[in-house]
Amino acid sequence: MSELIPPGTVWLVGAGPGDPDLLTRKAEKLIAAADVVFYDALVGPGVLDLIPAGTQRISVGKRAGRHSKDQASINDLLLAAAQAGKRVVRLKGGDPAIFGRTTEEVDHLFAQGVPVKICPGITAASAAVASAGASLTLRGNARAVTFMTAHVRAGEKLDLDWAALADARSTLAIYMGKAAARDVAINLIKAGLGADTPALVVENASLQNERLVQTRLDLLAVATAAAVTDGPAILVIGDAVRGRKQPAAPGDSTVHKNAWKKIAAASAHE
Ligand code: SAH
Repeated sequence: MSELIPPGTVWLVGAGPGDPDLLTRKAEKLIAAADVVFYDALVGPGVLDLIPAGTQRISVGKRAGRHSKDQASINDLLLAAAQAGKRVVRLKGGDPAIFGRTTEEVDHLFAQGVPVKICPGITAASAAVASAGASLTLRGNARAVTFMTAHVRAGEKLDLDWAALADARSTLAIYMGKAAARDVAINLIKAGLGADTPALVVENASLQNERLVQTRLDLLAVATAAAVTDGPAILVIGDAVRGRKQPAAPGDSTVHKNAWKKIAAASAHE
């Protein structure tokens, strides 16, 4: 069998939303096979615990407003490690393909002849709606999902196509949006989206300190301010995230058990 990470190559690996159990099996194997692991601030502590003791680990963390390595230095570090013949894993929070600066790293490494592969991960939006028992799409109602960011540099205005975004038949998954929650809500309502459109705010999705609030568009800013501390948070807006009540004691209901027996009996005859 060929080696998972040949020396001198780089794998960009999705670390998922934080819970190490949400890592792919491939990601776990790659972490185990690496000589060096570069990781973001958003990679969960439980995932970092999977890095073997003898493996070099280098934080290249980037968090809004805090000092961190710039993208050019990260590109150079990856390149230097690969050119030194290391088996390189670059762990990124969530899915590398979503707001992950993946293309920059791939281009930089390709330009120098370094092979790069990508292992996908579970993105924050998927983890957030899963925690809420909701979906990103809704048959008939939400036929599209927009993965977007509402991050702006200090002093810049949030300049988005609000008319296009205010679409009741699609779901908005807003990354890096907690500071802009108020602007997002005001602009979407102005552009015609219902003030009572369901909205979800999830901080630290999938982690033990997860905080989740189900709210509505006109209360998004208040809910965000109340729910979010200093962790990563995602906003999801649209009919697909309408709040649902979890049954009190799942599995304990006679009705359900009988229904299941019927289904099992029926399928046994098929
Ligand atoms: N590639 C990542 C996104 C990176 S951008 C992914 O696919 O999830 C960083 C933003 O992702 C954060 O500002 C936040 O909006 C969101 N995010 C990442 N992890 C999160 C988590 N565990 N809970 C809530 N939001 C998260």
